[in-house]
Amino acid sequence: AHLERIAVVDAAVHSFLHVDAEGALAAAEESDARRARGEAASRLDGVPIAVKDVLTTKGMPTTCGSKILEGWVPPYDATVVQRLRAAGLPMLGKTNMDEFAMGSSTEHSAYGPTRNPWDLDRIPGGSGGGSAAAVSAFEAPLALGTDTGGSIRQPAAVTGSVGVKPTYGGVSRYGLVAMANSLDQVGPVTRTVLDAALLHELIGGHDPLDSTSIDQPMGDLVAAAQQGAAGDVRGLRVGVVKELTGEGYQAGVQERFDEAVAVLVEAGAEVVEVSCPNFVHALAAYYLIMPSEASSNLARFDAMRYGIRVLPDGVDAPSAEEVMRATRDAGFGDEVKRRIILGTYALSSGYYDAYYGRAQQIRTLISQDFAAAFTQADVLVSPTAPTTAFKLGEKLDDPVAMYLNDLATIPANLAGVPGISVPSGLADGLPAGFQVLAPALADDRVYRVGAAVE
Ligand code: GLN
Repeated sequence: AHLERIAVVDAAVHSFLHVDAEGALAAAEESDARRARGEAASRLDGVPIAVKDVLTTKGMPTTCGSKILEGWVPPYDATVVQRLRAAGLPMLGKTNMDEFAMGSSTEHSAYGPTRNPWDLDRIPGGSGGGSAAAVSAFEAPLALGTDTGGSIRQPAAVTGSVGVKPTYGGVSRYGLVAMANSLDQVGPVTRTVLDAALLHELIGGHDPLDSTSIDQPMGDLVAAAQQGAAGDVRGLRVGVVKELTGEGYQAGVQERFDEAVAVLVEAGAEVVEVSCPNFVHALAAYYLIMPSEASSNLARFDAMRYGIRVLPDGVDAPSAEEVMRATRDAGFGDEVKRRIILGTYALSSGYYDAYYGRAQQIRTLISQDFAAAFTQADVLVSPTAPTTAFKLGEKLDDPVAMYLNDLATIPANLAGVPGISVPSGLADGLPAGFQVLAPALADDRVYRVGAAVE
């Protein structure tokens, strides 16, 4: 049914970069056989899933939305992909994304934008717009995304979906093509909070192949989602982050947020206002740390090891450096080049302390803001994104306007704490998102509160 749906709508929505109909059907048949024997491999055995094209899939193309990886077929599966296969989830294919996960609209994909199923003239968010659009357009019931500064939560918000960024280290990054290692996390994109909890439990847990993987339980996520869905948030202290509401937020988005908070109060939660004064610097710190790490990570695309190789024009026996230059020039898009330049600049000798060093200090202050806020509240809440989906092309020529979308999502990545975005209703006819953040390792809380608001 999902393959048929893809065949009908994906020409318009463009959620997918690659569809593996044959592989998905074969996996579905194996799943049917297992279920018939009463041997389901997991609770999600047989439920199809779409995977963001930044996760390696053995035998299936992986482009990261970039021309530079066109035609590359990885020889191995990411740990999360391997866990999906072991649990019996048929993989429908790979979803579109901003090139190397850099963006908030999926317009930076080298393969053309994805469109928002709610309004095809609007963006589906980014960088994981393909995963969110696939779920929202009923092309897939489940998807995987990755969130470095909001790329799961913001697309979920603007497409009326549920998106979760787990605690940093809670889900393996092995086989996730790194943008910024210290910020990247894999997580679920779904239509309900309970679906997200089921998927999170399946992909999460310790992985010796990822040196930052945490070997500790994150709570019973499914039970927490069920508890929240039953309206049980009694006694929870919910902190409204002063710096992440009000000015700069679309009126309708703010109204849906206030209503969601009222739902929690009605259900017996206690609401307090908290202040995180350093959050105003989060965007500036992120846009130094992220490009710095990315500029280093993307050095591996050197025309020798992966993807395309472009020979420079009119050079007889080009040197390795000339081939690298021609390949990177042709293979990377403008946003990727912009960030490589920013990152190498911030890390260069003489500027390192002034930019990268300062940004790391701000990162520490933001973690301290969270720590202080979590003494006053069990969870923190805000709108997920300041506005609903904007029009395609609207912010493409203004990188800073594009970056401002991440205002409310970035602090969680800088501090490594978990976050969820759940639909809070429509604002001016388009979906808005409600964000819940919890302390590291307390992922169960975002499910409990998210399910109560859903
Ligand atoms: N929109 C943010 C950026 O452009 C976040 C991206 C992400 O989370 N991958 O960096």
